[in-house]
Amino acid sequence: MSWTTKEIVDQLAKVVEPSRIKIGADDLQFYGNDWSNLSKPNPCAIVFPTSIKEVQAIVGLANKLNFPLVPSGGRTGLSGGALAKDRELVVSFDLMNKILGFNKSDALVSCQPGVVTQVLKDFAESKGLFYPVDFASVGSSQVGGNAATNAGGVNVLRYGMTRDWIEGIKVVTGMGELLELNRGLKKNATGFDFRHLFIGSEGTLGLIVELVVELTNPPKDLNVMLMGLKSIEHTTQVLAVFKEKLDLTAFEFFSDIAMKKVLEGKKLRNPFDHIFPFYVLAEFESYSEVQLNAASESFERCIDFGYAVEGVVSQNQRQARELWEFREGITESIASYEPFKSDVSCRISQTPAFLCNLEEILNGFDPKIEAVLFGHLGDGNIHINLLKPTKMDSEEFREVCKIISESIFNLVKSFGGSISAEHGIGLTKKPYLNYSRSEVELDYMRGVKRLFDPNNIMNPGKLIDI
Ligand SMILES: Cc1cc2nc3c(=O)[nH]c(=O)nc-3n(C[C@H](O)[C@H](O)[C@H](O)COP(=O)(O)OP(=O)(O)OC[C@H]3O[C@@H](n4cnc5c(N)ncnc54)[C@H](O)[C@@H]3O)c2cc1C
Repeated sequence: MSWTTKEIVDQLAKVVEPSRIKIGADDLQFYGNDWSNLSKPNPCAIVFPTSIKEVQAIVGLANKLNFPLVPSGGRTGLSGGALAKDRELVVSFDLMNKILGFNKSDALVSCQPGVVTQVLKDFAESKGLFYPVDFASVGSSQVGGNAATNAGGVNVLRYGMTRDWIEGIKVVTGMGELLELNRGLKKNATGFDFRHLFIGSEGTLGLIVELVVELTNPPKDLNVMLMGLKSIEHTTQVLAVFKEKLDLTAFEFFSDIAMKKVLEGKKLRNPFDHIFPFYVLAEFESYSEVQLNAASESFERCIDFGYAVEGVVSQNQRQARELWEFREGITESIASYEPFKSDVSCRISQTPAFLCNLEEILNGFDPKIEAVLFGHLGDGNIHINLLKPTKMDSEEFREVCKIISESIFNLVKSFGGSISAEHGIGLTKKPYLNYSRSEVELDYMRGVKRLFDPNNIMNPGKLIDI
């Protein structure tokens, strides 16, 4: 980039109020980074637009002067998608954070991209409705960021991904043009649905500047059961038994090391007398005796077949939340171990075989590197977190992890799975995209990128190069 920061800021100040352009060292560090903490942030400045017109003006300037943009939401991303390390201009949506309208009969809410996910969930609740996308970082992530990553989370089993709840989006393309896509229509058979190209595109095609999100009826009386198991294969056997009788809202699993770290990190009390090799958490509605009976019958069958050893069930909402903490607190509890993260998926029916193969691979590497396994088993989504041993140098750790990762990605490829179930490609997975996408597909992806962002100003270097 041949322009100096001062030149860019001077030009920006003509289209955005100068107080909404930040160049202080603390702001650059804070807004230039995401949760991946992959490398030192080094943006040239941060800009906070407040309207679509301003976003268009910023994109226009970036094209004219040829400087790169990094869209920035809540920066909870785990793949370095919102990391600005090469003097990019960070476009933060923190000030475009308003709910714009709600239509009860459509159950549709329009909002700006910077609305925090939890705020949207609370808004839905205030209308007697439910926004089902849910995961541990919803208190910080933004609806625009969720759409850009097609976020999943703990409710995908029943409700699907973010994509399934977005009935319309407005985007400013890499060329600065405003597109209004699908406009909240339930049915629209008019050819290519560009909305779905932008969802999950990680800010590489354009900026999401407005969304129309669908809400639904809330689930009733959620109950949670946590079970301790002896082996990895039993996780999917328990799932099969529970799915037979219950319409589960979530089915999660985690390993013994995950349990130890969360007990330690969150100072929780172990609900069992000892640590089991694996745990599963099943969530289901229990508004009538039918569901409660089905749940206890399923549990008893799991005990009889030897799939589960012990279990605890919530008696009220507070206990349900407490049981969830064992699963949802894992990511935070292991953050200090510089975890090397993988987030892979395969078909649900293949998860038992996949998990057994995965265990074999992990056992073949340095036993000092602890592997924390957890994930949304009901969707075939497994999170693998490798923890840095205290005495190992960070650089050496990352090198070993890359080797382990390649073995895991080869396994994923042999199962026809995905190297990124929900965290996105960003920078961390970019070199490995061809483990899940064919060369022909990658060529088409480059073609799409060139179409919407011919000057490559939108989050360059992330997801795919053109
Ligand atoms: C503790 C923890 C638990 C998590 N659990 C889950 C989980 O269960 N499931 C899951 O899917 N994810 C999970 N995540 C990852 C993360 O929260 C999601 O990817 C989330 O959707 C990111 O939203 P964000 O607003 O923080 O986006 P950011 O991190 O700010 O950005 C993510 C990507 O989107 C782009 N972007 C952001 N806003 C826009 C916009 N308006 N227009 C265009 N591009 C944009 C960025 O450039 C970047 O490429 C977790 C993260 C943490 C820290």
